[in-house]
Amino acid sequence: MRTITHWIGGKPEPGTSTRTGPVWNPATGEQQGEVALATSADVSTAVAAAATAFETWSQSSLSTRTKVLFAFRELVNARTQDLAEIISDEHGKVVSDARGEVQRGLEVVEFACGIPTLLKGEYSDQVSGGVDVFSFRQPLGVCAGITPFNFPAMVPMWMHPVAIACGNTFVLKPSERDPSASMLVAELWAEAGLPDGVFNVVHGDKESVDALLDHPDVAAVSFVGSTPIARYIHERASANGKRVQALGGAKNHAVVLPDAPLDFAAEHLVAAAFGSAGERCMAVSAAVAVGGAADDLVAAVSEKARAVKVGPGRAPESEMGPVVTAAARDRIVGLIGSGADQGATLAVDGRGLTVPGYENGFFVGPTVIDNVGLDMDVYREEIFGPVLSVVRTDSVDEAIALINANPYGNGTAIFTSSGEAARRFQRGVNVGMIGINVPIPVPMAYYSFGGWKDSLFGDKHVHGPEGVSFYTRAKVITSRWPHVQQGSGASYHFPTAT
Ligand code: NAD
Repeated sequence: MRTITHWIGGKPEPGTSTRTGPVWNPATGEQQGEVALATSADVSTAVAAAATAFETWSQSSLSTRTKVLFAFRELVNARTQDLAEIISDEHGKVVSDARGEVQRGLEVVEFACGIPTLLKGEYSDQVSGGVDVFSFRQPLGVCAGITPFNFPAMVPMWMHPVAIACGNTFVLKPSERDPSASMLVAELWAEAGLPDGVFNVVHGDKESVDALLDHPDVAAVSFVGSTPIARYIHERASANGKRVQALGGAKNHAVVLPDAPLDFAAEHLVAAAFGSAGERCMAVSAAVAVGGAADDLVAAVSEKARAVKVGPGRAPESEMGPVVTAAARDRIVGLIGSGADQGATLAVDGRGLTVPGYENGFFVGPTVIDNVGLDMDVYREEIFGPVLSVVRTDSVDEAIALINANPYGNGTAIFTSSGEAARRFQRGVNVGMIGINVPIPVPMAYYSFGGWKDSLFGDKHVHGPEGVSFYTRAKVITSRWPHVQQGSGASYHFPTAT
């Protein structure tokens, strides 16, 4: 069976652990490989390699870094299909969706190619007689990234291209469920000319994560994953004095007003709810139908949900693949059942779906649950599967209040033809990323990505300007070059401009 090892100091590294984790093929339900689960000693080896590499990489010129980033951009672009197939085989998502994920990651690399502009400092001439003040930003040191299974290429690329462009070195701990994409990415960095030790990958579970959180030579931790783990990462890494950004889970609402073009809204809701089998942190999992919109919306969404082509990720005709593991499938199926038990209406029931030739795959069909109450488990839990709950409200203000009462605040959307309602919505919701007739409002790489409330612990969003700020710290220099004849001019009161 194929074994996936770590990548440390510019080469594959088996590590010291005898523990491994299974890597499944979600379409067939078969185990296709095993991944080494790092010990804390393996993590120390990776951090030491990154700390040594930091000594020279942090001193490299902006021109050197930019050349490597451009080369990396070209290589990822050329190998997009290979990366997409690796992702599809381990995650389950369809190849076209995986290509989209690589493309969105590539946009962060392109953003990072502009690092000379992004790191330009400020300069104030003659703030006092003969005195100038200027600022610049410097890298932090070894940065760690801990990432989820659902975007095995894109989410790490929210982090490492920006961190490395800023002059840091990086240790990535990707999800142990789909670890192989990170290994190809490591090879591409090496091929692009990145010095050994600047980008490292350790695979593992809690043991390796805790080792990163506690290691004194790790300066900053970026995390993306579920809310309970995000909260834990933030608390433990902060207690150890590290800079932390920890992005958590989500419950994204899409509000549909009666004046929205119904077919357009239904089409987009279905794509946003069932694309990638709902395993997106920006997936729409709750539709909020306002006033008279509900009955027609549920009918249109249900018809389109039944038409989604479910199959293996590698089949070109598939629009939606399996979910990631048997455990994930069983949890989703259980939650759908709880909806029925607690009084909701199963408009479309995706339980029990079998795909011919893939009877052992981890498939759940698109599911639409109507008349969902706010106290039901299907509404309260982040299902992270192909399940759309429909909640009915009477007004936009009620919809806004409902969204604001939810503990998550990652993304949300409104479908309407009223500018007034859209503006009220965008100003009123306590959510980080908002779509107006756009169901999945993932910001472009030159903006920053992040939620509010329990969807983010820490102060900085990822990539864009906040990413550069997270991976650097500022120095402000107050400078004077006196003529010898001027005398010292020193005084004992607090320095003021003259
Ligand atoms: P997860 O929280 O289970 O795992 C994320 C990472 O944490 C993995 O690398 C995993 O190995 C590690 N981990 C898991 N349990 C741990 C523990 N007890 N101690 C230390 N480390 C641990 O998340 P997942 O299931 O891989 O991904 C799905 C979740 O990620 C969903 O909740 C989704 O909303 C969220 N997500 C959020 C965003 C965002 O931008 N906010 C983006 C993608 C995914």
